[in-house]
Amino acid sequence: MRILLTNDDGVAAPGLLSAKNALDPLGEVVVVAPERPRSASGHAITLHKPLRLCEAVLADGSPAWATSGTPSDCVTLGFDVLMSQRVDLVVAGINAGANLGFDLTYSGTVMAAMEGAILGVPSIAVSVVGENGQMEYGPAAAFTAKLARLVEREGLDRWTLLNVNVPSRRTEEIRGVRFTRQGRTQYDERVERRTDPWGRAYYWLSGSLVEDDTDHGSDVQAVKEGYISVTPVQLDMTATQLLARMKDWEITK
Ligand code: MN
Repeated sequence: MRILLTNDDGVAAPGLLSAKNALDPLGEVVVVAPERPRSASGHAITLHKPLRLCEAVLADGSPAWATSGTPSDCVTLGFDVLMSQRVDLVVAGINAGANLGFDLTYSGTVMAAMEGAILGVPSIAVSVVGENGQMEYGPAAAFTAKLARLVEREGLDRWTLLNVNVPSRRTEEIRGVRFTRQGRTQYDERVERRTDPWGRAYYWLSGSLVEDDTDHGSDVQAVKEGYISVTPVQLDMTATQLLARMKDWEITK
């Protein structure tokens, strides 16, 4: 199996190395990641300046490629330049931090997998959900390899990807695996206003997640209850129910 591995935390991120080590036995793994952290870069691509691909090494000395671009750029460059369009699986991660609910579109990790899906390659995004600080990547890495084998056997539908979130716990503390749907996350106090030394206002985007115990079957709920969450995600964002209702709308050009 030919695997393109990328992330949005940058080529030096420990989650990238754990994914690489777990996927190595499955075949050839080509690592191509942003040269610096690019979290929350969403599906951005670089159009108005050149991109560079530089040889890099991971912490264990194994070879990788670093790009000046975004996670989605990494997938495109890896696919076209490094792997001659012969890619069986795209893996993005393992991200340090959750990618749940409506946060997916902000995520460089998930959008890198989306880029893989656009290219017609089965794609998986993997994140570890924990408090800031020490993340437990081992269980997520082992699960990524298991899921990669399953996806190789079962295939994914065209224009879809899998978004995986793994609690940052030891394997024996993870309760199981749930196939989930994307949750409906909402944030409170999204903007924090502060004042700089010259008396001018500046702002931090942050916010705290509003707890919603009615969002049954969601990725958020599964992870909260200690399960690995696997959500099938599709590129087609058409609101089909609204489209059906719009048949009755009257409007002229
Ligand atoms: Mn990240």
